[in-house]
Amino acid sequence: MPVMTYGPLPETAVTRHRRLRERGSLDRADLDAILDAGFVCHLGVIVEGRPVVVPTVYGRDERHLYVHGSVASRSLAAGHPVCVTVTHVDGLVLARSVFEHGVNYRSAMIHGTPRKVTDPEEKTEGLRLLTEHAAPGQWDYARRPSRKELAATTLLALSLEEASVKIRTGAPDDGDGPDAALGLWAGTLPLVPTWGAPEPDPLLPADLAPPAHIARRGGTRHG
Ligand SMILES: Cc1cc2nc3c(=O)[nH]c(=O)nc-3n(C[C@H](O)[C@H](O)[C@H](O)COP(=O)(O)OP(=O)(O)OC[C@H]3O[C@@H](n4cnc5c(N)ncnc54)[C@H](O)[C@@H]3O)c2cc1C
Repeated sequence: MPVMTYGPLPETAVTRHRRLRERGSLDRADLDAILDAGFVCHLGVIVEGRPVVVPTVYGRDERHLYVHGSVASRSLAAGHPVCVTVTHVDGLVLARSVFEHGVNYRSAMIHGTPRKVTDPEEKTEGLRLLTEHAAPGQWDYARRPSRKELAATTLLALSLEEASVKIRTGAPDDGDGPDAALGLWAGTLPLVPTWGAPEPDPLLPADLAPPAHIARRGGTRHG
């Protein structure tokens, strides 16, 4: 079930689009839709003076993005500024000129300084949101984290307040330019990711079928 955040996206010194501003959106519903359509983000953070960009799963509530990992993970140190991106590629834009080639996409960027979640209730809820975001139904189906597992897990909460969105849709931009006279084919090649059929662990007993919440995702669109 998608959740909604509040208010339009703020244009701050950090989030204000400088290039291709027309592709930016200040509509928070666009941010919500982009976050709800994915479950992997890229966490950009400075670790020991060097930038690292870490792919990681996320969950969210109305106001926070949650990421988690091992307590040993250096990229999950709280209290430092980070930049998180979520990207969906919707297709290739094949123009008449190589210069005008591009990508149709929906992307979000969230800036902020994450907070380490220490309150046990918020930590459990954050992990539930994270699990349910990627695999709805699994929090109730699978065994939940033990105290020892919780202690081995860092959960960070990043405010969704300072965020930006960029979206490109449609045809190439050179259809009404001089290159239109080249007589070359131009257009888009859509990319539509879908889930495959569930593949059972070979160690499962043969008569153990996947639960409905997993089985029904096979063949459905992702993103
Ligand atoms: C799949 C994909 C492929 C792309 N390929 C290219 C490419 O090959 N070449 C290219 O020049 N650009 C590409 N872009 C666009 C690119 O992400 C940047 O938006 C663009 O390059 C402008 O960068 P900048 O640093 O000048 O942004 P600026 O306008 O200076 O950025 C200012 C602020 O705008 C916001 N912002 C910028 N970009 C994005 C974004 N994509 N999503 C959300 N918020 C954003 C951020 O808050 C950022 O701090 C691609 C985007 C996607 C999603």
